[in-house]
Amino acid sequence: MTNTEGQSERLEAHRAVIGDGFEIRRAVPNRHRRMVGAWCFLDHAGPVDFEPGQGLNIGPHPHIGLQTFTWMIEGEVLHRDSLGCEQLIHPGQVNLMTAGKGISHSEESPMGRAGRFHSAQLWIALPDAERLREPDFHHYPDLPVIARGGFRITVLAGECDGERSPARVYTPIVGLDLATHGRAQMTLPLEPSFEHAALTLEGALSLDGEILEPGTLLYLGTGRASLELATSAASRMLLIGGAPFGEEILLWWNFVARTAAEMETATNDWIEGQRFGKVHGSRGKPLVAPDLKGLQLRGART
Ligand code: MN
Repeated sequence: MTNTEGQSERLEAHRAVIGDGFEIRRAVPNRHRRMVGAWCFLDHAGPVDFEPGQGLNIGPHPHIGLQTFTWMIEGEVLHRDSLGCEQLIHPGQVNLMTAGKGISHSEESPMGRAGRFHSAQLWIALPDAERLREPDFHHYPDLPVIARGGFRITVLAGECDGERSPARVYTPIVGLDLATHGRAQMTLPLEPSFEHAALTLEGALSLDGEILEPGTLLYLGTGRASLELATSAASRMLLIGGAPFGEEILLWWNFVARTAAEMETATNDWIEGQRFGKVHGSRGKPLVAPDLKGLQLRGART
């Protein structure tokens, strides 16, 4: 099978630490690929076993201009935000927080329990017309699932094969979790106008004949109407895609904006306790914003 428009591109995820010492693999942004559609951030955490008192502990921190999209595969995370929402998320569920003009939240493993942890957190850039909207938070306990060729496809965002995710997003995107218990094979239909990328979360899969293992993002470009997927063992893959995002964004710390001046204002508002409200009950300390000098060094527009 040949692809004239969609040349694939392998991009290595890099290791990063979040909260107080929790190691993840960050696949987006990548030096060579800043976005896939409106998806502008993709952290893969686990699978990992942790002792009681360990696990995820990310204290209150602010966001603007994006949606945080948490997909839970194994384990639990407790979300608390400045709107007063408190939500424990279980495997197979999505938490979707729309930051809009400003919100703060904390994310932590439930206290005192040992456990296993496996999840993906993604950010979705809001388009200019929506990015200053009021913040909100939604928990999606049930998502559409499609059985196909030995794959179990969970429709996390957007649509697949006539099944649509209830998750509310603001640009045309798709997000799929594809899991198998063993040998499986299928043709996955794709929207040709979208660009797509795949990240193996467990095991190994073949995508149009190319083997993909955890730690590498396979960027697939636009112009593909389908993808041949196969695996010989239990595996799991995340597929993301969307209409190429037609706006230049700045991504710095936990903010998506358009100018450095907006970043400075948001950072100062966080330091001064303005705009982002308060998160009650979290055990982690509020996060400290990095030095704004780092933002200037990146040559951001003012
Ligand atoms: Mn966050």
